Amino acid sequence: MRSFVTESGPETPAHREIPRERRIYVNRNLRMDRIEAVGFDMDYTLAIYRMRRIEQLSFDMTIALLVRSFGYPEEILSIRYDPEFVVRGLVVDKERGNLLKMDRFNYVGRVYHGRKALPREERWRLYRDEKIRAASPRYAWIDTLFALPEASIYAEIIELLEPARRLDYGKLYDDIREAIDTVHRDGSLKSEIQKDLDGFVVRDPELGPALHKLRSSGKKLFLLTNSLWDYTSAVMTHLLDGVLPEYPSWRAYFEYVLVGGAKPRFFTESHPLLELDPGGGVIGKAEALEKGKAYQGGNLVDFEKMMGIGGEKILYVGDHIYGDIVRSKKSSLWRTCMVVEELEVELEHLMRHADELGTLAAEERRQASLEDDLNLERSRLNALDRRLIHGDLEGEPREALERTRAESKRSMEQLRRSIRETSETVSRLSGLIDEGFNRYWGLTFKEGPENSRFGEQIEDYACIYTSRVSNLLFSSPMQYFRAPRALMPHEVGLGTFSVYGTDDRRPGDRLGGDYGA
Ligand code: IMP
Ligand code: MG
Repeated sequence: MRSFVTESGPETPAHREIPRERRIYVNRNLRMDRIEAVGFDMDYTLAIYRMRRIEQLSFDMTIALLVRSFGYPEEILSIRYDPEFVVRGLVVDKERGNLLKMDRFNYVGRVYHGRKALPREERWRLYRDEKIRAASPRYAWIDTLFALPEASIYAEIIELLEPARRLDYGKLYDDIREAIDTVHRDGSLKSEIQKDLDGFVVRDPELGPALHKLRSSGKKLFLLTNSLWDYTSAVMTHLLDGVLPEYPSWRAYFEYVLVGGAKPRFFTESHPLLELDPGGGVIGKAEALEKGKAYQGGNLVDFEKMMGIGGEKILYVGDHIYGDIVRSKKSSLWRTCMVVEELEVELEHLMRHADELGTLAAEERRQASLEDDLNLERSRLNALDRRLIHGDLEGEPREALERTRAESKRSMEQLRRSIRETSETVSRLSGLIDEGFNRYWGLTFKEGPENSRFGEQIEDYACIYTSRVSNLLFSSPMQYFRAPRALMPHEVGLGTFSVYGTDDRRPGDRLGGDYGA
């Protein structure tokens, strides 16, 4: 991709010039000219981690702690992290020791127990007859990239220790959760990261210019992270210090800095906002926000009041589907931008398979039309049969009717064969596209032909979404992000020249796909 940062500053390219994987996608119209403040989460949002490395570290430290402090046998030290085996959006069934992937209707499409896929009959037996209430404590949702190692440890321990040992699946998950939580909270994980920030955190050269572009249009930027001061300051220094001459320190980009935000509770509870001294020590309760100062804790209501900006004038950019996006959307009027790192690889994969995707859509249409033809033929045959049985020949010779009947049966046979062939092609192509991306779980945003539960949550709660913060560099800070017109099934294929487009679309599809398309 050519650089959009020139000597004279960043330029805004034409939409078509931006590679798909770097575009901003729109679920709900968002007028950036109405946004007065833009808030950013830090971890996995401003700070892009080298995923494999941080996951491996967190995996190793958690397993070591399970042996050291939770009484797990040393043999679990032999398990290996397989990053392909865990993806965001999976659900842990703590009662049965399974990992599940669901579609937007909570239909369970794939299940693994340990490392073994459950066959379809078993999956149906376990998950078809009861409604899955994802909010129940029986299930845990892998909704942040920080949680990938815990899903992996869960499956690997079950695989290793069963059937020789009987496992309490609920306790196993809770132990792993507590161990990984400790590794995050006691500073051990972060101190390893801080020893080698370059090795763990990507320094995106376009991040500084993207933030600068927003600021120069008059928007106030703030940082709202759950990380605490020392770590935040180290990571932000690594990311932004010295990137642009106008900003010798990262602090200069942000009007306000809030650490230890305790999201999602930031949006629902009323923790006091504490003022920090330059070294990160707590001075006391803050009564007002002062530009350039750092704060800890706080809550939505006080923060909006003190900033003098609230509701729909704030855009919050985060990566955690629940803590940053769903909770803020449910509890505030803030507009939301979700950073979804997975988008880049998934889009690259889909673009590599553009031809197969085209064939798949054509074959699915053909299948529907063949099924239509078969129904028609079946009712024709029924009518003929009735006439022959009742002797209702209407002057036609019986042999002629018998001949028509035989032809009709042959043509039904032919249609059935074609339908079988088409559906084989459909499942071969969708398997190629799904399992070619991830042989265990398929596409992140899809489950079968439906959106995955994860994909659906992004659609429901993120006003816009994109693969990384620096993609904001390619749009104007005054951009009108327009959502594509949503189509209900009864609207699909209406008109050929109107906004409804061609009749290629299927229920649930949207026109365009991203702004300006
Ligand atoms: P944010 O994304 O900038 O809000 O920060 C996320 C913070 O949450 C980081 O400091 C992580 O270390 C921390 N974190 C992630 N997972 C856990 C956990 O399971 N327990 C405690 N802290 C966590
Ligand atoms: Mg985050």
